[in-house]
Amino acid sequence: MDVSELDAPVTICVDRGSRRLVLAWADGRAVELPFAVLRAQCPCSSCRRLTQRPTPADFGSIDVTSIQSMGYGVQFIFNDGHERGIYPWALLAEMGWRVGQVIQNG
Ligand SMILES: [Zn+2]
Repeated sequence: MDVSELDAPVTICVDRGSRRLVLAWADGRAVELPFAVLRAQCPCSSCRRLTQRPTPADFGSIDVTSIQSMGYGVQFIFNDGHERGIYPWALLAEMGWRVGQVIQNG
C-alpha cells in the first residue's frame, strides 16, 4: 500500500483522558498518537524551519482544543495557541508507525 494515497480513517477518536489521537482505517490498521508527539512533529512551515526540533517531552501537558477536517487530513488547534499544522492522513499513519504504537486489530 502506498501511504501517500492513504484514505481517510474510518474512526477518528480524540481521547482527552489519555491525551491521544486514535485513528483506525477500514483495512484494520490503527495508530495511537499522543498529543505531545503531534505537537512536537508539527508539519507547519515555521516548525519545520526550527533548527532544533522540540521533543514530545517539551509538550508534556499539551492538549488539543479542537480539530478541523481538511479532507486529506486534519488541522489541530493546540492549547498553547499553535494551530498552523495540517497533518495529512499519510503523515499521521507514518508518525504512528514510527512511534511504535501500532494497534493490531486482527
Ligand atoms: Zn507548527
